[in-house]
Amino acid sequence: MKVSLILTCAGKGERAGKDKNKLLVKVNGTDCFTRTLSSFIKTGLIDEYIFTASETDFDEISKRVKDIGVVVLGGKTRTESVKNALKLVTGDIVLIHDGARPFITQRVIKDCINNARAYGGTVVAVKSRDTVVRANDKIDDYLGKSQIYIVQTPQAFKTKEIIKAYDQASGNSFNDDGEVYKNFIGDVYITEGDYNNVKITYPEDFELLKDNFGDKFGVGFDCHRLVENRKLILGGVEIPHDKGLLGHSDADVLTHAIMDAILSALSLRDIGYHFPDTDERYKGADSTLLLVKVLELIKEKGYKVKSLSAVIMAEKPKLLKHIPSITKNLSNIIGIDVDSIGIGATTLEGLGFVGREEGICAHANAILEKI
Ligand code: MG
Repeated sequence: MKVSLILTCAGKGERAGKDKNKLLVKVNGTDCFTRTLSSFIKTGLIDEYIFTASETDFDEISKRVKDIGVVVLGGKTRTESVKNALKLVTGDIVLIHDGARPFITQRVIKDCINNARAYGGTVVAVKSRDTVVRANDKIDDYLGKSQIYIVQTPQAFKTKEIIKAYDQASGNSFNDDGEVYKNFIGDVYITEGDYNNVKITYPEDFELLKDNFGDKFGVGFDCHRLVENRKLILGGVEIPHDKGLLGHSDADVLTHAIMDAILSALSLRDIGYHFPDTDERYKGADSTLLLVKVLELIKEKGYKVKSLSAVIMAEKPKLLKHIPSITKNLSNIIGIDVDSIGIGATTLEGLGFVGREEGICAHANAILEKI
């Protein structure tokens, strides 16, 4: 079953108080349009992309999407813009989404598609957390909150049905696509949304973008003593050597520095805080299993590792030939390409405790991106 997306970008966004379309305003190196679109691309569930744009932004949006979709000129109202875009849809299911909702999650997109398949028409909505009233200067009516939903996008439909509904809707303006469907076709089902899926509308909403856009950067450092009768483990790989690193866990100094770099990027303290060396559970622990736990922690916060770089400081053994297997192992565990991991090694020219072969240190940097 083919799935199409209409991303509405034709609004002027006057309330945002910017001198250009709010969707295209750069915040921390990206913008609403890019973030919203990439959320859909990442699902791998969309087969066709159609964008609506105003005359002012038509060329810029066309340039940006030339490899993935087509742009249609928006109308005077949202209803008109969507109607124009629907003419180009060839999918069996069509999702319609506001370009100004960049925090849409993969879960909501998937649920929305599944509900459209099952029921024909669905809108994403969240239960009101506040009591809602109908009022002018004074309250006319209490609507409560138990059956009150706040409607968001995406809204998804069987394409043939929503086209039929829009054909009959001609001339009238509707709140959203769900209302058009409900008026002319039938029941619209609720897909449980996400409270973070807000629409960027006012100048203060751009503060939200500042907090959520852009990569996070972290730094980590570690050092362990070299002793006899211990294995030398670096990045989860056993390195042949007559000595190994001493520690409560397997003392994998590189993996420790990497974990600290990842944690620090999101202000999540450090590995001593999460895996204390007084805890018997971590005695002799395989540090790469702890790395997996760190990755789960940042996933809960909505982030993943984008790239890593690290340097190991060791007088002996020579690490040059082991770097590819260390990189490959970390790439498998973290789930990023080997090209996104840069590991280097250096001696300290005989200087200090590393130079005297008493210990090995590692320094790591991590860049995290939103999932
Ligand atoms: Mg350590």
